[in-house]
Amino acid sequence: MREQLLALREPLLQWYDAHRRILPWREEVSPYRTWVSEIMLQQTRVAAVLPYFERFMTAFPTVQALAEAEEEKLMKLWEGLGYYSRARNLQKAAKIIAAQYGGVFPGTYDELIALPGIGDYTAGAILSIACGIPTPAVDGNVLRILARLGGDESDVTDAAVKKRYRAALAETMSRERPDAYVQALMDLGATVCLPNGEPLCEECPAKAFCAARAAGKTALLPVRAKKKARRVEEMTVLLLYRQGKVALRKRPAEGLLASLWEFPNVPGKRSEEETAALLAEQGLQVRDWKKSLHARHIFTHVEWQMQGYALEVMGEGKDDLVWMDREELLAHAVPSAFEKFKKEALEN
Ligand code: SF4
Repeated sequence: MREQLLALREPLLQWYDAHRRILPWREEVSPYRTWVSEIMLQQTRVAAVLPYFERFMTAFPTVQALAEAEEEKLMKLWEGLGYYSRARNLQKAAKIIAAQYGGVFPGTYDELIALPGIGDYTAGAILSIACGIPTPAVDGNVLRILARLGGDESDVTDAAVKKRYRAALAETMSRERPDAYVQALMDLGATVCLPNGEPLCEECPAKAFCAARAAGKTALLPVRAKKKARRVEEMTVLLLYRQGKVALRKRPAEGLLASLWEFPNVPGKRSEEETAALLAEQGLQVRDWKKSLHARHIFTHVEWQMQGYALEVMGEGKDDLVWMDREELLAHAVPSAFEKFKKEALEN
């Protein structure tokens, strides 16, 4: 693989100069902008990130501004991107940078990976792209390119394999243009050496010496050990209307979607009778069953299968319920897992 990486270095940079994607965080570069863009891009497509990035930079143009942001405003700006712990970690790290580094981004690998939410890949991207310090940034795209380039059938989900690839890159990557080199690999993975199906080898700067292409094995690489099946969780979500308002509550401070707003829900698929009994225990009486709904949401390790009831209720209800009118609902961030229910509540 080392030979192929050395052979690829210059053609890859030339290819990048001709084909690079124009992206806002590349037009004006700073560690802060690179960091925010890379965190947003985790689990999210570039096209989806673009409007969020612009809005985020307008609202919080500096690390200091992010450190001082109101949590509700931050969550609202993140609404729809999912994986809200990313936003929380951004702010936690911004507070540390503001308090411990006087608002100036730290410039070493060890300092960066000590910050919440910054791992090996993000640290490498910030150092190479925004600080000019050659440091590999190995994500799924890069693992795929390297496995194919070297015709390597090792399991790329194995940490030892990733470590080996990282070492090969550290030794062979461009020292003069680490920013272009790291971004070139990102772009090659996103636009040419595509996952699933056929990579566009004819357009690839590695086509003359790529081992997978020569052996006709591009569809078989990279090798990934089978993932564990997702856990399925069934639940019943309630759209409780009372006097023109709908009930929401905050999720627990720990765990999935921590501290975000949600529509009240209970585990399991409950019948109308069971639901009415549960509500009665909480001091709410059903006046009218309006509608049944169904939705599904897939997280990394869990799949929620949701059935829902929209119903008119009366009574005091528990203290944890917050009754919101349309404007209040619009002003609060509700995770996209509840998207269908929010839409229904807004249309009601
Ligand atoms: S030649 Fe094909 S398989 Fe090899 S790195 Fe390029 S796009 Fe990927």
